[in-house]
Amino acid sequence: MSPEILCYIGLGSNLEDPRQQVTTALAELDLIPQTTLLQASSLYRSDPVGPQDQPDFINAVALLRTTLEAHQLLDQLQQLEQSHRRVRKQHWGPRTLDLDLLLYGDEHIATERLSVPHPFMQERSFVLWPLSEISPGLVLPDGSRLSDLLVVNPLGTLERICI
Ligand code: ATP
Ligand code: CA
Ligand code: CA
Repeated sequence: MSPEILCYIGLGSNLEDPRQQVTTALAELDLIPQTTLLQASSLYRSDPVGPQDQPDFINAVALLRTTLEAHQLLDQLQQLEQSHRRVRKQHWGPRTLDLDLLLYGDEHIATERLSVPHPFMQERSFVLWPLSEISPGLVLPDGSRLSDLLVVNPLGTLERICI
């Protein structure tokens, strides 16, 4: 039996009805084999990272429980991106759905395909604020406290969307 691991997924979309893309993807995360969606944040609107000549993003964070190994989970996330007809063109360019594995338990993973914790999560308000809705007391594997990271990464232009 594989152990149950708690992991966090960052979702983003800025094409083809982004709110719907993210809302649907949250439900689809629960359909991944050996995996349960435990919690989902609200949706947030954020300015694009990288190229600015693209629509705003809708972001959210989900908490999953899984017995999949991290690379198996990445396979599932990438399949889900493909099913949302994601086309990779420009780096940090527009996309219908982006699913990043933010944290996989307390593990540090560094392979060709996977860097966990996600290398930029500590500097992205659109990850940290939704994460704090789900797990305000979270301490990252390197010992940083989410509450401290929120001070360094204020809400700024990030907006929580009330539906
Ligand atoms: P960023 O990683 O800065 O958010 P991005 O999400 O636009 O950028 P992608 O084009 O979605 O980057 O992914 C490029 C590659 O990153 C993927 O093919 C995947 O193998 C790899 N990757 C490494 N670590 C992770 C992770 N923690 N979650 C998802 N993909 C990852
Ligand atoms: Ca990303
Ligand atoms: Ca990604």
